[in-house]
Amino acid sequence: MPPALLSIRDLGKRFGGFHALKGVSLEVEHGEFIALLGPSGCGKTTLLRCIAGFLTPDSGDIRIGGDSVTRLPPHRRPLNTVFQNYALFPHMSVLDNIAYGPRRHGVPRGEAAERAAQALQLVGLEALGARYPRELSGGQQQRVALARAVVNRPKLLLLDEPLSALDMKLRKRMQIELKHLQEKLGIAFVFVTHDQEEAMSMADRIVVMNRGLIEQVGSGTAVYATPATRFVAEFIGEANFLPGAADGDGGLRLAFGTAAVPYSGPHPAPGPGTGAGGSRTGVLRPEHLELLDRADAPGFLTERGIVEDVINTGGQTLVMVRVGDALLASRRLGMPGAGLGRGTQVVVGFRPEHLHVVAGEPVP
Ligand code: ATP
Repeated sequence: MPPALLSIRDLGKRFGGFHALKGVSLEVEHGEFIALLGPSGCGKTTLLRCIAGFLTPDSGDIRIGGDSVTRLPPHRRPLNTVFQNYALFPHMSVLDNIAYGPRRHGVPRGEAAERAAQALQLVGLEALGARYPRELSGGQQQRVALARAVVNRPKLLLLDEPLSALDMKLRKRMQIELKHLQEKLGIAFVFVTHDQEEAMSMADRIVVMNRGLIEQVGSGTAVYATPATRFVAEFIGEANFLPGAADGDGGLRLAFGTAAVPYSGPHPAPGPGTGAGGSRTGVLRPEHLELLDRADAPGFLTERGIVEDVINTGGQTLVMVRVGDALLASRRLGMPGAGLGRGTQVVVGFRPEHLHVVAGEPVP
């Protein structure tokens, strides 16, 4: 089998006494769009900088196309980086900014200008080549930074929160444009973001990071539907958490309201501290907790509850229901119906197959 485009093995990085990367391994294939996602300080940028060569890891290895680049300086690595602040040269025209890379690599002036014009066309700014960066909007500067990064057709492009300086509307548009550009070029993107919607809508695979470690790698659908850990379940989307414990016979008992519901579906095998009687958490997405008209609805586990809040989120309604000690969220399409207000007594329920179980106790 040919080697992966990018192969990261057991990467470790400390800043003084602080362990920013604690053994990160990841493979990226040719043409893949990868998002590094996680809360502030989890090590996303540190990982990206190690791949780019701006930081030297303390341990581990980085390979591109099978060759170790761990000790190579940034400019000797077959990749390019797009920074958050674009880093355009203010004293150069747009076209010269883009032609700078090829020129530095010894491409003759005429050919470099031609390649720059092509790259500019790719991002839809062919008419603006003579302008200076200060004469461009934020979105246009972002496109120029992209054109500059892809003009040498690297196999791998690293992007550090490239859209974070843009307002929400433009950001959404650029997400779509960037995804199309990536598909058109066939260049692998490793994209840092702390915005889960951005990661979900753009990436082929999401790498969820927490405290210097990778918690899960998978498609947006997989990390949402089958989170590997409590952290992923909480970080990606909204969730109801049902506390519970393994019953020692391969089954589980999860608290749903005051009742403990038996559950025998797939759940994590006993691990350290999570054996028989060890704690488990049931993860139930709000769209899978339904308001029902009867307590014996076939195929459902049900409980009675009282509505505490009805929140209209534009096209969707979130109904917060008190069930025993827990406040659970039920989400459904459409506007809040009449007759469903605070204090309404309801029956809520879910199909057991929609419950996903992870090891450990609910995150407080
Ligand atoms: P953000 O989304 O806020 O950019 P991040 O996930 O990209 O966060 P990193 O920039 O990788 O986080 O930083 C990881 C941790 O390492 C943070 O706690 C940060 O304070 C620390 N760190 C990063 N660079 C240095 C440095 N040069 N010296 C000391 N600590 C650093």
